[in-house]
Amino acid sequence: MTSRIYNFSSGPAVLPMPVLERARDELLCLPGVGVSALEISHRSPWFEGVLADTEQELRRLVGIPDNYKVLFLQGGARLQFSMIPINILRGTNKPADYVVTGSWGTMAQGEAKREGTVRTAYSSKATNFDRLPAKAELDLDPNAAYVHVTSNETIQGVQYASDPEAGSAPLVCDSSSDFLHRPVDISKYGLLYACAQKNLGPAGVTIVIIRDDLLARSDKNLPSMLNYQAYAAEKSMQNTPPVFAIYIVNLVLKWLRNDMGGLEKMLDHNRRKAKLLYDVIDSSGGFYRGHAQPAVRSLMNVTFRLPDDAAQDRFLKGAEAIGLEYLKGHRSVGGMRASIYNAMPVAGVEKLRDYMRDFAKKG
Ligand code: PMP
Repeated sequence: MTSRIYNFSSGPAVLPMPVLERARDELLCLPGVGVSALEISHRSPWFEGVLADTEQELRRLVGIPDNYKVLFLQGGARLQFSMIPINILRGTNKPADYVVTGSWGTMAQGEAKREGTVRTAYSSKATNFDRLPAKAELDLDPNAAYVHVTSNETIQGVQYASDPEAGSAPLVCDSSSDFLHRPVDISKYGLLYACAQKNLGPAGVTIVIIRDDLLARSDKNLPSMLNYQAYAAEKSMQNTPPVFAIYIVNLVLKWLRNDMGGLEKMLDHNRRKAKLLYDVIDSSGGFYRGHAQPAVRSLMNVTFRLPDDAAQDRFLKGAEAIGLEYLKGHRSVGGMRASIYNAMPVAGVEKLRDYMRDFAKKG
């Protein structure tokens, strides 16, 4: 195959074309450096510049206040399911509250239980994670060490449309599958984290934005590779960071600022794209049934079912035949999931919309 398909995978996911083109052009030789980003030492002036610039780009794009550190870690978002309680729950003699609105929140809570006392402030498991809590439904402990939420549940396609409200304890947010799809007010969070392989770049780097008072909680006797403070002290260079992944994140951040015009514009763009698909679902007379309740539908992962398994198989085969791929939903939800992250072009979503309309007509 020589031409690109439209890749609706939930992650690793589609990257912006200008980023891929630049990486291709520089793959054999970074201009003026003479080696590629796959080969270069992390102690080189080139990479130290890239790392510092990536942090600056992120701080500027998102508006990260000075009393927050930005860490570039490995081990994926799942390592954070453990590092968070190890660093900011251990030793507090307090519980951690978890707002469980999908599979990832469930997993995050499960890991935290290995570390300390964990409460369920809310769970939508009984309705297969199709909704988010109203404020009055949250059973929060005001004394909690933190409250953990998942801003976008990638598998269920359930998303907070704005920064979640979660009481007085520090808010900790897994933003792995929607970071940078809209502006966020970082000052509302104690800690926000995201793996890269959806909206930020390739797999291999995870970003943690942590407020200084939470950073101060890490026990100095923790293994250094699990210790936020140690990463902050070494500016994410305790060991070899994922050089290539961070280089791509740098290019994606520049693409967001220069080509997409920043996060407000990115949000408009994402809203328009998601509406194309939700409109087809809503006007299909029940042929397509969305999983998430309409008020909390994700702009990133559009989840829907067809009338039966046979129709779903035909749908997937027909889609693949015209270059619309990786649309099969997670088995716990069934049906389809179209992941339409920042870098998914409008043309890809329009092609899927047209295919869905035609398919529903034919039945
Ligand atoms: N949280 C969310 C919301 C995710 O979507 C994912 C990955 N799909 C993860 C955590 C786990 O990320 P990783 O594979 O990088 O550990």
